[in-house]
Amino acid sequence: MKRKRVKTNWAVVVPLAAVLFVLVFVLALMVRTLAKTGYRILDVSLTPQPTASPTPAPTRLDLYTYYNFAETQQIPVFDHRENRLIVMDFEKYIIGVVGAEMPTTYAPEALKAQAVAARTYALRKILRGRCASHPEAAICTDSKCCQAYISDERMNERWGDAAGMKYNLLAEAVMSTAGEVLCYNGEVIDAMFHACSGGMTENSENVYSNALPYLRGVESPYEDPMRTQTVTVTFAEAVERINAVYPEAGVTEETIGDAIEILAVYPSGRVKTVRLGRIEIVGKKLRTVFDLESAMYTMEKTETGFVFSVKGYGHGVGMSQNGANGMAQRGATYEEILKHYYTGVTIEPNLNQANLSDPNGGQ
Ligand SMILES: [Zn+2]
Repeated sequence: MKRKRVKTNWAVVVPLAAVLFVLVFVLALMVRTLAKTGYRILDVSLTPQPTASPTPAPTRLDLYTYYNFAETQQIPVFDHRENRLIVMDFEKYIIGVVGAEMPTTYAPEALKAQAVAARTYALRKILRGRCASHPEAAICTDSKCCQAYISDERMNERWGDAAGMKYNLLAEAVMSTAGEVLCYNGEVIDAMFHACSGGMTENSENVYSNALPYLRGVESPYEDPMRTQTVTVTFAEAVERINAVYPEAGVTEETIGDAIEILAVYPSGRVKTVRLGRIEIVGKKLRTVFDLESAMYTMEKTETGFVFSVKGYGHGVGMSQNGANGMAQRGATYEEILKHYYTGVTIEPNLNQANLSDPNGGQ
């Protein structure tokens, strides 16, 4: 009896099989297309990302709200590019500072060290008199006056599709260290930093006037690649450049060959003093005259001019950013990096007790 029920009805099965065949074919095509798309997506996700990041951060908003922003303070920041005052969250401001001051390709612990240094630098600036050029602001975005800063809009312009991923790297570094600042004997330090030391950082008094106990020259062995620069200057160009700044040196094309002499060098390798014709100047001033990337240079005289060989980039005081990245790549934590470059400091959880939004709130 049952067999009769399952008797094949070919008039139904044949069209059904044809439809099924077409469906399977279409499905196969779709799978192939999706697989291709999927491969492209996978390829993008294989671009360098922090393996140490504890938080999967699919979108900018997720990581931004992951931390408790309500606990941080608002500060008035003068945006010198837009020429206006913006009141923003203190930690949000630090995210933009780290994005402007350090390559986002650097290791996560180096970015954290930069976040703490940038926060410390900002807090000290605020506590010690705020922005000199814009009294209505706590701090400004002009690197020549306060600290560099990049806004969300400019991150999008500069980094395009990678902006969200890069923002999250920065936000992770800043918010996982939120509130942390560097102190020496309970006082917020002057957390100076520079791009690359050339192998040895510098005592603060050898570059600026103050001898600060936490800004001592230390070895910076993991700078890779160490910045080097070769600057060739003809005798005629040297005369022109020197006379533009130091006419009292009395340099001429006849005397220039013997007019520049390195007189003394610090143990770090940075030039201490230089004789320039009739005058003597400090080594870092010759750096400015010839656009040398640091004061760690040697000079060679040729038949037609001078050749300067330069190591490192920047003033050399405090944390070397390149060296911090090298330490992080070898497993150092941000605390270890900071304590290496800032002698005898402590990392305090939150000394942010001043009222940062009050123009008179600084001490
Ligand atoms: Zn300023």
